[in-house]
Parts: sequence; C-alpha cells; structure tokens
Amino acid sequence: MDALILDFDGTLVEPFTARSLAGARAAVARLGCDMPVAILTNQGGPAYRLAGSLRHPSPGQVASNLDRGLRAVGLPPARVARLAVATWPGNAWQGRPAEAHFGAALAEAQIQAALVQLGWAQARVSGSSDWRKPQPGALVWLALQLGVSPVDITLVGDRDTDRSCASGAGCRFQWADDWHAGRQP
Ligand SMILES: [Mg+2]
Repeated sequence: MDALILDFDGTLVEPFTARSLAGARAAVARLGCDMPVAILTNQGGPAYRLAGSLRHPSPGQVASNLDRGLRAVGLPPARVARLAVATWPGNAWQGRPAEAHFGAALAEAQIQAALVQLGWAQARVSGSSDWRKPQPGALVWLALQLGVSPVDITLVGDRDTDRSCASGAGCRFQWADDWHAGRQP
C-alpha cells in the first residue's frame, strides 16, 4: 500500500459527531509517518442534523465538526494530504430537494472557506453528483492529487457505499472494524 484514504463518520468518529471511535486513534497512531493519508467524506450526518438535534448545521459548523473530529483522532491538517468533502445536492430531505434547505452551491463555497480558515487549505468541497460516494469521482481525484496509482491505495470505510466507491476507482478496500483492530487489508 502506498497511500491510505479514510472515511470520516463511522470510521474515525462516532457518526454525526466529532468524538473519536474506539480504535480509530490507535489505528492512526500505528501508521508510519511516511504513509500518505487523505480523507474522503460524504457529509450526510452533519448535513442533515447536528448530533442529538434536528437543527441544520451552518457551513461553519460542518467545517468545525470535521476539524475537531480529525484532530481528535490525531489527524491535524499537517498530517492529511487532501480532504475531499461531498455535500448533499441531489439528495432529498423531508421529501424536498436538499438544495431547498441548504442552498447547495453557496454552502459548498462556505464550507470550503470555513475549512481553509481552520487550516485545511488542502480541502476540496463539491456537490457534483460524481463526487459523492458510492461514485468514484472524489477518490479518483485524490489518487491523482497524491500521485499514487489507485491499485496502490486502500480506502477504509464502514459502509457499502465506501466499498463500491473503492471498487469503482480501482482501489482496495478495508472495513473500518478490521482497520481499528490492526488487521492487514
Ligand atoms: Mg462512514
């Protein structure tokens, strides 16, 4: 393996929170410091509700949640080569297009700006349909950015959409539970 790409909710943190999952921090700590690491996340949870409430988060809250969660598992901006964030356009929310609630194009730019303010200059936020898992667009982009062939990349995730994304991009896949436990991909 030449590079590792990690899902966020359910792989690094408890879904829809910034609390690290048991095992995630240890799994990050086991990585060699020369292993390129990138993050690939669909922001389903933060997009739809804040943890424990039905409030819609602001773009700044989405960015802050990502920032705190990644730092909580030992992945500050200096350790992460690229951060790919897929937003919600195209998904319905309460029977209506999500854009009606969030203003998709504006939110993308606002989330990206908020991430940059928090130190994530390497973040790219997009709502294009091929960018959101299980589509492989963001994973292909990450491979190009890292300069690593997809066959030498492992994506770690907790959902079938992660596995499908890895398959579509020609990458290997590992379930989050196995990665937490230190099993080889
Ligand atoms: Mg997940």
